[in-house]
Amino acid sequence: MIVMFPCLSDNYGFLLHDPQTGLTASIDAPDATEIARQCAQHNFTLSHIFNTHHHFDHVGGNQMLKEKYGVSIVGPESDAGRIPCLDQAVGDGEVFKFGQFDIHVIDTPGHTLGHCVYYIPALNSAFVGDTLFALGCGRLFEGSPAQMFDSLSKLAALPDETKIYCAHEYTLANGAFALTVDPENEDLKSYMREAKALRDKNLPTVPTTIAREKAANPFMRAKTAEELGRIRALKDSF
Ligand code: ZN
Ligand code: FE
Repeated sequence: MIVMFPCLSDNYGFLLHDPQTGLTASIDAPDATEIARQCAQHNFTLSHIFNTHHHFDHVGGNQMLKEKYGVSIVGPESDAGRIPCLDQAVGDGEVFKFGQFDIHVIDTPGHTLGHCVYYIPALNSAFVGDTLFALGCGRLFEGSPAQMFDSLSKLAALPDETKIYCAHEYTLANGAFALTVDPENEDLKSYMREAKALRDKNLPTVPTTIAREKAANPFMRAKTAEELGRIRALKDSF
């Protein structure tokens, strides 16, 4: 089962729990105090952290959670040197066991040079960190448009019904921009109406799905790396 909760200013925290073995992983560690509180509330003992990349709002809780629970910390090989307390580096295409689940590692550079996604076919779910957002994609802090294009192409190849757990609630701001590049897209317009209704009730717009993003997200719809780069530059100054 997956437990999702808001934390920090606009992050989401996620706990992945396997009832068969009692193992519990936090996807990234945005806020150690809130993660510990959620674990206590659900009677989980945190056993792992799966980091997507080294930014502070993703690894900031690593050390405190390591001290509190002795968690085992998994992270992308490609960002290994920048993830505090890392125990296990995982590479692109690797599949590792987590209780009853097979976790597939997909390298998705672009936002940062090292970044990975954790895909769990048995749950139809992918934890995508700051690579793909509902109606947007991560800012290119380190990588190139070509890298982000390849990374989003890998995610676009996942089954349409895959639930996409993004690390931030950015949907309304992303959608406002998306409407400027794709104003006639009916899927985008109806998506935005639904997203506004959810946010008006203070409900999350995450998870999204691959199908919805392919239909409405201008970065997923870009046909070339050049087109993605052009849209990304417009978004950066929007
Ligand atoms: Zn980030
Ligand atoms: Fe982030």
